[in-house]
Amino acid sequence: MPERRQIIAGNWKMHKTVAEASYYAVELLERVGAVGSPEIVVCAPFTALAALKDELEESVVHLGAQNMSWAAEGAYTGEISARMLKELACTYVILGHSERRELMHETDEEIARKVKAALEAELTPILCVGENLRQREEGRASDVVRGQVEQDLAGLGEEELRRIVIAYEPIWAIGTGKTASSQDAQEMCADIRWTVAQMSGSAASGMSILYGGSVKPENIAELMRKPDIDGALVGGASLDPAGFATLVENA
Ligand code: PEP
Repeated sequence: MPERRQIIAGNWKMHKTVAEASYYAVELLERVGAVGSPEIVVCAPFTALAALKDELEESVVHLGAQNMSWAAEGAYTGEISARMLKELACTYVILGHSERRELMHETDEEIARKVKAALEAELTPILCVGENLRQREEGRASDVVRGQVEQDLAGLGEEELRRIVIAYEPIWAIGTGKTASSQDAQEMCADIRWTVAQMSGSAASGMSILYGGSVKPENIAELMRKPDIDGALVGGASLDPAGFATLVENA
């Protein structure tokens, strides 16, 4: 079985101006040097991507966006296409983040279209799935997450599934300081792998599945020791370059 890619991806959300992003890139590169694994990804606001391209292209740090349109181009005011992201050296794009699902009312149908558009443009989607607190307390976490995976990846063939990264992000653990226990996170990531295996066994065994939700330098090592967790999607703890570099080092 090929080794799965280990990935630590930072999600800046709506933080950092162009000047702050450039400063961050220099500081991060000084600290991570030529680290080959885990793969480091910075998912920044659209406005910072051009500046980050200048600093990070050809470095070990990969660039990603936090959303994109399912449309290739056209009359979609305010939207950004996959081709625009490619031009800014993005190789990754976060899709279906719970904040977009909840605040912008993104549906699984839209997310599935975005996943397809990203793949067509040769961007790697980091597809976020996860249950809210009520769903967990009602014992529905697995069903909810399975449903999201099935709908968001519907109709994809084996070759396409191989190019997807999934981030399991329980909503109750995002930005709250509450991390899922490493055992709970492992169980959910294993469940996601099983769900993908129903679509393609070989794609599932090679797929990188990340955990996200209050990941910090102090808890990353324990999470990474779990057999179905191949990395992390990191929000708050990715905002400081020194702290993020320590988190990468501890992974
Ligand atoms: C996220 O935004 O994807 C996330 C996991 O945030 P945090 O690490 O701050 O919980």
